Amino acid sequence: MSPAAPIGLMSAMHEELVLLLEAMPDEQRVTVAGRDFWLGHWQGRSVVVVLSRIGKVAAATTATALIERFGVQQIVFTGVAGGVGPGVRVGDVVLADSFVQHDMDASPLFPRHEVPLYGCSRFATDPALSRGLALAAQQVLAQVAAHVGDAAVAEFALHSPRLHTGLIASGDRFVSTTSECRALQQALPEALAVEMEGAAVAQVCSDYGVPFAALRTVSDQADDDAHADFSRFIRSVASRYSLGMLSAWLAR
Ligand code: SAH
Repeated sequence: MSPAAPIGLMSAMHEELVLLLEAMPDEQRVTVAGRDFWLGHWQGRSVVVVLSRIGKVAAATTATALIERFGVQQIVFTGVAGGVGPGVRVGDVVLADSFVQHDMDASPLFPRHEVPLYGCSRFATDPALSRGLALAAQQVLAQVAAHVGDAAVAEFALHSPRLHTGLIASGDRFVSTTSECRALQQALPEALAVEMEGAAVAQVCSDYGVPFAALRTVSDQADDDAHADFSRFIRSVASRYSLGMLSAWLAR
């Protein structure tokens, strides 16, 4: 991969995007498909930063535009997710090794979760890209207070946040009841986290042969309390984790 090839950085949240743009000295805005793509440099690398918006279709359109219009040669997604795997807690980070659409169901024509005509239900992320991000994530988690401040560490009890690697489930639902969370855990016992975009980006990247990796900070437990302090957590913790992790990864 040539160092000049742009890297696509997708974030699901406005709060994250703002911090990324502040870190880019020379960003230029280009609007395509009603979205703002920010072209510029960060840590000496050519990057295109964009807000995915929420849900699988919005994320797929954004990923396609990044590849077709901006020629990005790898895509990294950061955002938040609900923790559904055992021991996956608020403040932890989940690195996807693969994605599944938990709401894909064309049964009985195809097995539940299988994407029709692809012959599979899971889309893997890129191992090399993911390894680099794992190191960056571990670096940030080893010194959380330096990234989010002591007050946020105390408020969100970020005492020993962990990095988990595994399956992330995506679907067009904000999973925010304990009963829905239980049903998801039963249907997909290996899933560590649930969110609304990753599987769509993974499928687009697989179609185009573009390496993809995704890091999600756990903002809630996808249960009856999933709404509590969501935006505060994103502002004070998740967006700062993302900034630290992406910055450490690009600097390597
Ligand atoms: N109230 C929010 C809505 C965000 S929807 C707002 O003000 O914008 C949830 C976003 O966070 C999605 O982008 C999704 O990918 C992720 N997410 C976090 N927790 C989730 C959960 N429990 N279920 C599904 N998506 C979740």
